[in-house]
Amino acid sequence: MTTRLGCIADDFTGATDLAGLLARSGVRVSLRIGVPDDPPTDPATIEVIALKIRTTPVAQAVEGALAALDWLRAAGAGQIFWKYCSTFDSTSEGNIGPVAEALMDALGTDQTIYCPAFPENGRSIYMGNLFVGEQPLAESPMRDHPLTPMRDSNLMRLLTPQVTRPVGLANRLCVAQGAGPLAARLAELRAQGVAHVVVDAVADADLAVIAAACADMPLLTGGSAVAAPLPALWPQGADAAARVPVVFPDGPAIVLSGSCSAMTRAQVAAFAANHPAYQLNPVELATAGPDAALTWLASQPADATPILYATADPDAVRHAQDKLGRVRAGAIVEDALARIAVAARDAGIRRFVVAGGETSGAVTSALGVSALDIGPEIAPGVPWCAAECAGERIAIALKSGNFGAQTFFADALARLEQP
Ligand code: ADP
Repeated sequence: MTTRLGCIADDFTGATDLAGLLARSGVRVSLRIGVPDDPPTDPATIEVIALKIRTTPVAQAVEGALAALDWLRAAGAGQIFWKYCSTFDSTSEGNIGPVAEALMDALGTDQTIYCPAFPENGRSIYMGNLFVGEQPLAESPMRDHPLTPMRDSNLMRLLTPQVTRPVGLANRLCVAQGAGPLAARLAELRAQGVAHVVVDAVADADLAVIAAACADMPLLTGGSAVAAPLPALWPQGADAAARVPVVFPDGPAIVLSGSCSAMTRAQVAAFAANHPAYQLNPVELATAGPDAALTWLASQPADATPILYATADPDAVRHAQDKLGRVRAGAIVEDALARIAVAARDAGIRRFVVAGGETSGAVTSALGVSALDIGPEIAPGVPWCAAECAGERIAIALKSGNFGAQTFFADALARLEQP
């Protein structure tokens, strides 16, 4: 099998979000954590490579993206999607624009689109201005993001300093007319030398129009939602063989949470109310390590589905950070959860639900997971994944901060019991 669509994501949970949306189509989707060392063998119809280049220096981001492009082309990818955050997280240096321009040069194409809209999650673009719910981007909490503060809502103005070629707009009035008029507008802009086209979208129907108008572009860029309609445009039947359901292993399960986001706190409380639960304390971990937690885990019945969590309210987090420092507190918790995951696997646990973006990175890396087959979604943006881990097949769900309903952990386990 060869790859049709190759995707490059600028961070890990963004890649999972994209892979989950694309898997809704039923097409086989594989997610690689970093550019694989080996050349592709049996690549999936859609390959997503998760990089960590949202806030790295520009040259490093470009180098990573070009390495991913090489691998995806070797897999046969005929179209490339550059995925970034739906809040256009970037600075005046990059990395959205420089990576797009480097990919365009490598692909020999003179135009691409920018569409971070994600209507299902409240991100919409009108007249080139990005909204988060009802707020312009620059008035949303993204204004004060620690790494990529977004102080302008206009995507053309945000993009212009990041690129060397002209930036233009295909606005909603054009998108509302359908794929033909939008394709004509893109051609008109191309004739004027406009390489970078921001495209408005306020609803899912707009995204379908954009995907149809851009189906033949070698490179598309945006949030995950604009890529989601692409597989439906592919000729029916050609991918029948690829629509093989992902197989998940039977076996005991565990929940590991290192996320302290408000929604995760509610999810942990809901699950801990009726499952064996162990709370990790970073200050104790700093002196004693995770042995007590490992001993507790070993004493649980095989089918108990325990939860181990460092999830805590802001006062407790602050206390730990005051004692240990912010970075060290986080690293101690991540290391403990990673060691617990390895012990759980060694004890025969085959289903892992992990909460926290950084935590997910630490756990997958400790388990030695480098590729994930994407299965059914538990909640928007959070699919079950299957992976090879030390010669065994495991199921793993990776949830960042505020994703999922209050019953997420139970929802996740129940989802694997459905046909
Ligand atoms: P989210 O997706 O909610 O942002 P992350 O896992 O990305 O979750 O980030 C949470 C960070 O907080 C991790 O580095 C984790 O180790 C750290 N952490 C978790 N629990 C605590 C705690 N009780 N005190 C201090 N830091 C914590």
